[in-house]
Amino acid sequence: MAGNRTFTMIKPDAVGAGNSGAIIKMIEEAGFRIVAMKKTQLTKERAGQFYEVHKARPFYNDLTAYMSSGFIIPMILEKDNAVEDFRKLIGATDPAKAEKGTIRNLFAKSIDANAIHGSDSDENAAIEGSFFFSKFEQF
Ligand code: GDP
Repeated sequence: MAGNRTFTMIKPDAVGAGNSGAIIKMIEEAGFRIVAMKKTQLTKERAGQFYEVHKARPFYNDLTAYMSSGFIIPMILEKDNAVEDFRKLIGATDPAKAEKGTIRNLFAKSIDANAIHGSDSDENAAIEGSFFFSKFEQF
């Protein structure tokens, strides 16, 4: 059975452009409850840890430099079928391919500055959520 929690972070391009409020509104209107949220900035090293799975990819250095370049807003979200429904709400990784009306279609600038992250499995949602939040901070 699909889990009911996912993890997201609004990325530096969207926070810097002042789009975080509009994005959070879309998330809530789509039926997600915010379980935990904060505004923070990653060091390049910590961004590297978060994206460890992409270490061998050619874009790893650009990705970690970009993800540590400004403020991000990580969140844990709750809804039935959370992971899949949230991936639908954000759209494809490359905003040029993201379906109309998705968060990336509306707010992303490029494949790396693509506005928002969404976990790709229940297992990763739990790992990524605990990367940013302790059990004590989740409600
Ligand atoms: P996601 O699950 O849709 O975020 O995509 P992935 O897990 O495959 O990739 C993680 C992040 O790496 C993406 O959100 C992009 O920011 C970045 N990324 C993925 N593919 C590319 C690429 O081909 N070039 C660059 N520059 N960044 C990429």
